[in-house]
Amino acid sequence: MTIDFKGKTAVIFGASRGIGEAIATTIAQCGAKVYVAARSEKSSGQVKEKLESLGYEVEACVADVSDYEQVDAVLCRAIEDTGRLDIVVNNAGIVCLSSFLDATQEEIHGLININLMGANNGCQAAIKHMIDLGIEGKIVNTSSFVGRHALEAGFSHYGMTKAGVIYLTQAAAYAGAPHNINVNAVCPGIIRSAMWESILDSYVESGLDREESWKESLKTFIPLARGDQKAEDIANAVAFLCSEYADHITGQSLNVDGGAAMN
Ligand code: NAP
Repeated sequence: MTIDFKGKTAVIFGASRGIGEAIATTIAQCGAKVYVAARSEKSSGQVKEKLESLGYEVEACVADVSDYEQVDAVLCRAIEDTGRLDIVVNNAGIVCLSSFLDATQEEIHGLININLMGANNGCQAAIKHMIDLGIEGKIVNTSSFVGRHALEAGFSHYGMTKAGVIYLTQAAAYAGAPHNINVNAVCPGIIRSAMWESILDSYVESGLDREESWKESLKTFIPLARGDQKAEDIANAVAFLCSEYADHITGQSLNVDGGAAMN
């Protein structure tokens, strides 16, 4: 099975590092022209440089996903350049570890605006453009295993937004379905990205050893013995969901998490 995205246009939000960078790399490897978006020209520009040095076609864009107009502007730019919009990945996200009772309104609104509204903005704007263009496109949102069920150990409002992304994916899938536009999500487990390093920072601040905490987190959350996943594992699942092999899959949230969630 080979995935061929030659001639396709893809936009990846939250592509400046970690899982998003891996998704952009994999989709570019498969032949698409990729628009990588993040909050600064510097961060998306670094990924553009890296991917161009590998010979891929890439453009760097700036958008704060919590702002519909900024998200739409990136999609419009891709459409103006190429006349197409085939793939949109809504991967941007932030984490906040405050407990349910301690989280401030600012922290909660930040999570909702970026994790949930960001994915909503990408889905709404992308579906409208795909319908206008008559393109049977693919959209993938990044949720989390934490969106499947609440955990006692933190992630409370983060998980709330990621559960919202699972529901959003179903609602958007219904909107896209009459036009053969597929909307799915991936639910990663634990990837040692900048986001997870920030979680480990908080363990270190409370006196724990960084590497021991990482091993402990894997032991606590991930049943599969092979342990740590890589961002590329998520990217491969996203590429599959964006390919013709997923033409009959929509409204699904695929756990790619070493068994952390089995529902
Ligand atoms: P990361 O390394 O912190 O990357 C987050 C990405 O989101 C960056 O590209 C960042 O870009 C972008 N971003 C953040 N806020 C944004 C905003 N307001 N507008 C636009 N872009 C924004 O995190 P990651 O671990 O790769 O996570 C990627 C996604 O996977 C997130 O949705 C996360 O919740 C989810 N996830 C991660 C894990 C894990 O274990 N790492 C597990 C489950 C789910 P800039 O900061 O450059 O703007």
